[in-house]
Amino acid sequence: MGALDADLFTGSLAALVEGALAFRKNEYRSGRNLMPRLAAGQRPGVLMIGCSDSRVDPALICGAGPGEVFTVRNVANLVPPCDAGGGRGDSVRAALEYGVGTLGVSHIVVFGHAHCGGVRAMIDAACGTAPESGFLGSWLAIASTVPAQALAELAASGRTDLTADALYACAAVVERRSILHSIDNLCGYPWVREQIEAGALAVHGWWFDLDDGRLWATHPETGAFLPVESA
Ligand SMILES: [Zn+2]
Repeated sequence: MGALDADLFTGSLAALVEGALAFRKNEYRSGRNLMPRLAAGQRPGVLMIGCSDSRVDPALICGAGPGEVFTVRNVANLVPPCDAGGGRGDSVRAALEYGVGTLGVSHIVVFGHAHCGGVRAMIDAACGTAPESGFLGSWLAIASTVPAQALAELAASGRTDLTADALYACAAVVERRSILHSIDNLCGYPWVREQIEAGALAVHGWWFDLDDGRLWATHPETGAFLPVESA
């Protein structure tokens, strides 16, 4: 069997290839890492829907090892509604179907974050300043009702005379409202709802604050986002 010289990889890829070689040497073969034993199969308890953002890797932030989290990542960590016609969002639907139906996860976490570029583009669209076409706009249209929901939430908390451009200063409200919107969509999948009603599955919204490293999570009863603290 031939081999590729690692030196063929330059620029941003050089460090990544170096990392993969070091991982095999120092982790994979060390006996400490579970990965070789997991080659026979996975049985993760958690499915996470995270953002594609390079800064926010759910497994890294949560200290999860191999085999612990089945992860879907997309722009703005969206869950499309259940739509038998398929189309936009089918990769997320397929991952949900596999995670819930085949792997039998016990928890689904929609993992959003602060300073989300996808959510900012959502606000751009609400302000009429987003590009007219493109795949990004088409994808984010899944959550097109979220900016109005965030404005309604701000109005209910006493903020008055708000227009869509006020959302740039309140992006965290939109980010968290978008997570709740994805959870609503999740509950629209009959086989997700069945598992929740059977007590075999729970869905959660998590939001990571890039400014201070704090994790926020939805309260199991009220659904409100609160920072998570050590007991
Ligand atoms: Zn994001």
